[in-house]
Parts: sequence; structure tokens; C-alpha cells
Amino acid sequence: MTPADSMAQIAAEVSRCAACPLARSRTHPVPGEGAVPARLMVIGEGPGRQEDEAGRPFVGAAGQLLDRMLQAIHLDRSQVFIANVVKCRPPQNRTPTDEEIEACAPFLARQIALVDPDVILVLGATAAKALLGARTRITQVRGQWQAWGERAVMPTYHPAYLLRDPRQKVVVWEDLRQVADRLGIPL
Ligand code: SF4
Repeated sequence: MTPADSMAQIAAEVSRCAACPLARSRTHPVPGEGAVPARLMVIGEGPGRQEDEAGRPFVGAAGQLLDRMLQAIHLDRSQVFIANVVKCRPPQNRTPTDEEIEACAPFLARQIALVDPDVILVLGATAAKALLGARTRITQVRGQWQAWGERAVMPTYHPAYLLRDPRQKVVVWEDLRQVADRLGIPL
């Protein structure tokens, strides 16, 4: 991060970026949005169809569930920063490749530096691997505090997965309780 770095600068660079093949499949880049700085940063996998159309992260059904997850710990999206590991939609919502994630990683690192969060909430297997290493298994690290540099990371399931398997909401609630506790939010 340079002293002059800003989210607007990053968004402008993302909009021009052609560093990976996803540049060709996007309708709109989705750099991320929210508060800067923020005590909580939420990181997902990548834009889906509705996000690609809107140019905003987590606006579809999974996004509405994310909003409810945040409300459960007395936060709304205006108080957090929400981003994805890749800023452009993969075709047919496929999982982004390691090369695409690596190409986009400098944008995410700059965003984390700007947001300066106390806690990073990582949603799903792809984001967990991107931040915590390729060998990371979300089923093994979910609910256990991890670290990205000096920063506390809580991996949990992606809301899109919760829509497919609502029984997992119980364990995600426990993960969110840990995040609230770390942030000093009484529930
Ligand atoms: Fe650039 Fe990231 Fe979009 Fe790839 S996904 S084109 S690296 S902004």
C-alpha cells in the first residue's frame, strides 16, 4: 500500500485490470464496498451473476443471508467492508483457479491494509484457501481462529452453502458469536 492508496484507486485499477482471464467474462468488476476503516472485513469467493450485473458484492440470495448473519451480531453492511478474493465473475460461477486468485491477490491485500480490520470473516472453502493456504480445508478450520499476518481470521461456511444446507446455520451462529466476542459486541 502506498500512502496515497485508497479504495477508489483500487476500484479504478480493478475496472481496468486484465491480469487474468476473468477480465473477459465480467460484465462489471466487483471491487467490494463498505466502511473504511472497519473492525470487521468479510471476504467471499467471487461475484455471481447478480453481483456481476450490479457491480456490487453479495447482492443476491446469499448476500441477503449475509446481511442477516451480520444483523445477528448487531452489525449491518454499512459498518463492515465486504470483498471477494477475485473481483470478476468466473464463467458459470465456477470456482476461480489458483492463477486467477493469485493474480487478484494484490488488490485484496491492499484492501485489507486500508480497512485495517480487527477480524476477517472468511466465507467458504475458496476464500479460506486463498487466505490461509492451498491445503486449508474449510471443514477442518471452520470455527477456529486463524491468522493472516497479525490479523485474526475466523473461517466459516459461505452463505450460499447455508442456503443449500440450512442445518449448518447452527455452527455458523457459533462462529459469529466468537466474532462478536472478539469485537466486544454484547449479544
Ligand atoms: Fe484483474 Fe482480479 Fe479481475 Fe482477474 S479477477 S481481471 S486479476 S481484477
